[in-house]
Amino acid sequence: MLLEDFKNILEVQSLDKQIQKHLCIIEDEQKRLQVVTANKDRRAKEKEALEESLSKLSHENSQLEKDLFTLEKELNKAKEHLGMATSTQQVSALEKEISNLSPRVEEIESKILENLEREEKAQEELNKAKTYFSAIDETIAEIQNEIDQVANQEQKEISKYNERITLLLENLSQDTREIYFKAREKHRFNHPATPIMGSGCGVCKYQIPAITRSQVERSEVLEFCPGCSRLLVPLNAKL
Ligand SMILES: [Zn+2]
Repeated sequence: MLLEDFKNILEVQSLDKQIQKHLCIIEDEQKRLQVVTANKDRRAKEKEALEESLSKLSHENSQLEKDLFTLEKELNKAKEHLGMATSTQQVSALEKEISNLSPRVEEIESKILENLEREEKAQEELNKAKTYFSAIDETIAEIQNEIDQVANQEQKEISKYNERITLLLENLSQDTREIYFKAREKHRFNHPATPIMGSGCGVCKYQIPAITRSQVERSEVLEFCPGCSRLLVPLNAKL
């Protein structure tokens, strides 16, 4: 009786392997979407940073324009007064003022120009981002649709395997089923049942005592490998 159970278990195991392949196909499809949505999240943060930097630049420039206006007014006034100066003392004071103001005006002008260039670049990037965001949701919906179709197809295949597995599991004796479920719960897609190879577990190589080995080979016992908790099955169950 046990040998028959072991054979059924190995069949369940190979059907589970098939199911795993289909699950992997679905998972790979979902990964495509994860890449796209991660990219979307990253670009949303970039867009936010661009908007922030644009508003900062524009605020900074309007402040600079005000400063420039004031300084230019002072500079023009100084120049005007210079033309009307009546003493060398006045001339030298006004010239000093002009030579102080001029570089400050130049400095602000060049800072404004620099900011305008940065603003232009940021605006270009923001326009690109807007183009990207205008289409990305549609792209995501398309990918999701493709994934759904693939998943649907794969699930149909998986259901067929599951039906067969259910029948095989129903045929197991209750003891075997309970024991096997424990191993399957842990190792479903990675050999929950394994034959003994040489003198050790076929997967983790844990050494199995000779007496247990011969009991397993004669299909007399339901034994777990003490090393990995897989169910030990006789070699002839594979035939
Ligand atoms: Zn083991």
